Amino acid sequence: MPDETLFTKIIRGEIPADVVYRDDLVTAFRDISPQAPVHVLIVPNHVIATAADVTRDDERALGRLFVAARQIAEREGLEAGYRLIVNCREHGGQEVPHLHMHLLGGEPIGPMRTRS
Ligand code: 5GP
Repeated sequence: MPDETLFTKIIRGEIPADVVYRDDLVTAFRDISPQAPVHVLIVPNHVIATAADVTRDDERALGRLFVAARQIAEREGLEAGYRLIVNCREHGGQEVPHLHMHLLGGEPIGPMRTRS
């Protein structure tokens, strides 16, 4: 498992990003290519490559993703709701091999999936 990813560089401040939340377990920043008025990525501070690689050692950080998502959603005024997405590996459309949760909101996000 790589110990360095694009997101670890963002977490360490080596690549600029609009960080909206940070604590001892997770960091959240705005997606560079937003797919909704609010599009935030919430990332464990340690590298977990994909959802298919999680272990019990990751439970605290993974739980914190949801707590951070709730706090960010409140701050962003997403009372009407939002969508949380974790893409996994190739078929899931994952591009960055560092597990992350997408928080999308600010307008109706639409159907969960349109088959192509
Ligand atoms: P994935 O497809 O892996 O679930 O999502 C990766 C996300 O990372 C994409 O939505 C993409 O726009 C975002 N992303 C890629 N490179 C950067 C970057 O350098 N900075 C930020 N803030 N987001 C990025």
